[in-house]
Amino acid sequence: TGEQISQLDWKKVDNLMPAIIQHAVSGEVLMLGYMNQEALNVTQSCGKVTFYSRTKERLWTKGETSENYLNVVSITPDCDNDTLLVLVNPVGPTCHKGNNSCFHPAETDWAFLYQLEELLASRKTADPESSYTAKLYASGTKRIAQKVGEEGVETALAATVNDRFELKNEASDLVYHLLVLLQDQDLNLSAVIDNLRQRHKK
Ligand code: AMP
Ligand code: ZN
Ligand code: ZN
Ligand code: ZN
Repeated sequence: TGEQISQLDWKKVDNLMPAIIQHAVSGEVLMLGYMNQEALNVTQSCGKVTFYSRTKERLWTKGETSENYLNVVSITPDCDNDTLLVLVNPVGPTCHKGNNSCFHPAETDWAFLYQLEELLASRKTADPESSYTAKLYASGTKRIAQKVGEEGVETALAATVNDRFELKNEASDLVYHLLVLLQDQDLNLSAVIDNLRQRHKK
C-alpha cells in the first residue's frame, strides 16, 4: 500500500530496491530487478514494471522493445522494508530467452495448472483435427458437460471401491474436462478461486 511504500528503507539498499516479480495468478517467480525511487514512481504511475538498469544505467521499462510488458497488480514491501514484491500480469514471456520466467525451468504445481489452462484456452481457436481438446470444443457444450458428468461419476466410483490408482486417473480426467468446460463457458479457475475466496470471507 501507499503508506507502506513511503516507509521504504532506501538508505539500507543504497537507493536500489530489489523487486521480486511474481505472476499474480500462477504464483510463478518471473524475474528479479532493481528499482530506484524514480523507477518505482514510474512503475506506479504507468502501471508497467520499470527498473533502474545497472547495465543500461537508465530507467528500463520491461517490454520497452519486446512489448512483453509486466502489468502491475500490486506492490508490497517486505517485513523490514528493504525488498518489494510486485504481482503482475505479464503480456508475453518475461525472459529475453523466451521463457515465461527467468528462473526456467522452476515451476510449481499451481503454475503448471495455470499453464495447462492457458494451453486449453488456446485450443479454442485451433483446428478440431489438430487436437483432442479442439475437437472437444467443436463437439459443443452439451458434449463437454456430459464428459464432466461421466468423469465425476467415475471419480466417485473409484473412491467408493477404494481404488486410489483409478481415483487419481479419474480425478485427472475430471479436472481436465472441467477446465475445458469452464473455458467453453468463458470462465476459468481464477473465477472459481475468487468465488471460493468470497465464500471463505463470510
Ligand atoms: P525488453 O525490455 O523486453 O524490451 O527487452 C529489452 C532488453 O532488455 C533485451 O534485449 C535484453 O537485453 C534485456 N532484457 C529483457 N528482458 C530481460 C530479463 N527478463 N532479464 C534480463 N534482461 C532482460
Ligand atoms: Zn527484508
Ligand atoms: Zn531472463
Ligand atoms: Zn475417466
